[in-house]
Amino acid sequence: MSSKILDYYSIEDLLTHEEKLIRDTIAEFVDTEFIPIIEEYYMKGEFPKYLIPKLGELGIFGMTLPEEYGGSGASNIAYGLAMQELERGDSALRSFASVQSALVMYPIYAFGSETQKKTYLKKLASAEIIGCFGLTEPDFGSNPAGMLTKAEKIDGGFLLNGTKMWITNGSIADISIVWAKLDNVVKGFIVDTKTKGFSAPIMKGKLSLRASITSELILQDVFVPEENILPMSNGLKTPLMCLNQARYSIAWGVIGAMLATYKSALDYSKTRIQFKKPIASFQLTQEKLVKMATEITKAQLLAFQLGKLKDMGKIKHTHISMAKRNNVEQALNIARISREIHGANGILNEYPVMRHAANLETVKTYEGTHEMHTLIIGEDLTGIPAFE
Ligand SMILES: Cc1cc2nc3c(=O)[nH]c(=O)nc-3n(C[C@H](O)[C@H](O)[C@H](O)COP(=O)(O)OP(=O)(O)OC[C@H]3O[C@@H](n4cnc5c(N)ncnc54)[C@H](O)[C@@H]3O)c2cc1C
Repeated sequence: MSSKILDYYSIEDLLTHEEKLIRDTIAEFVDTEFIPIIEEYYMKGEFPKYLIPKLGELGIFGMTLPEEYGGSGASNIAYGLAMQELERGDSALRSFASVQSALVMYPIYAFGSETQKKTYLKKLASAEIIGCFGLTEPDFGSNPAGMLTKAEKIDGGFLLNGTKMWITNGSIADISIVWAKLDNVVKGFIVDTKTKGFSAPIMKGKLSLRASITSELILQDVFVPEENILPMSNGLKTPLMCLNQARYSIAWGVIGAMLATYKSALDYSKTRIQFKKPIASFQLTQEKLVKMATEITKAQLLAFQLGKLKDMGKIKHTHISMAKRNNVEQALNIARISREIHGANGILNEYPVMRHAANLETVKTYEGTHEMHTLIIGEDLTGIPAFE
């Protein structure tokens, strides 16, 4: 449980009873049902699909939404803490939840019609149906404005053509939120993945986020009925607003990965004997542990205030960029230091360290690369965009 690993600045005292309850319920699930099986699934390169209904029962998906749409009106701090516990298990588990909540439920909630909300949100919350989010294309990652996927208006709906790449949960999704240009304006479409012309082959050969399903989406004359366009979607800012929700969950989630690799290093350093002493007794090892604990504490404070700003409605996308950028980079640094402390044992899957380190390479790149977040904050500080 994360709170028992490190809470150096007593953030626990700032949480409500409900926030602690949500966090501890998810922590228990991760400790008892997920951590014991993750190494096996990671090595196989599979997501443990049998756990999906349980994730729905735990109320993880869309928890900040109102009850009428399947949520529980939880605070953003509670949501962040939930993401932290999931990613303490594995980034794949948090990715699954981020996509379902932030990239599928949120766009329907924020940009969908009332009928769309009633049709999909409760089913997504309970995990009766799974969704995915198709924005990235083979030639357009950091610059999605160039996307080639097109929607054409025809009688009763639209025809979609294009290819998406690197899509989390694509191959198991019942619906896909596909972003395509209609008359040169980016619009969101709810695509039933059983529709003729839609296919989602799994991408193989990943050495990172191995326990997550990643797919291509191929759309060949896919018919989408009129009622499945997200009516309030209008331009690239719409998918970017969805990505902000997902980035928020990363800023919190990676603290879980930090805690997992820190705890492993701390425990190991107290029991590994070299030169007749535990390696924790050497000053160089202590310096490493202090650095890890300090960066975790800074990340926790950053995430906590980010959550408060979100709950107060004062959050800016640049706040999220700063927390995502910093916390992921520090999580990677901490994983690497943890590996050093474990010596050769650090490369074994008996310890969670290399798995988290490898996962975090993806987390640094997706939902806006580290460099893109640097440029976003740089523009905010200077008023000068440096993207092109
Ligand atoms: C496992 C996984 C799951 C994913 N899931 C999804 C998903 O569910 N849905 C989805 O739509 N996408 C998803 N993505 C895609 C992800 O969002 C993209 O990989 C990301 O946006 C970067 O795009 P790219 O890989 O094409 O890199 P590129 O855009 O080609 O960038 C390559 C490098 O160049 C740098 N770069 C690019 N432009 C500039 C610039 N102007 N200045 C400085 N540096 C620059 C980048 O920062 C990066 O370091 C996923 C990716 C992975 C790996």
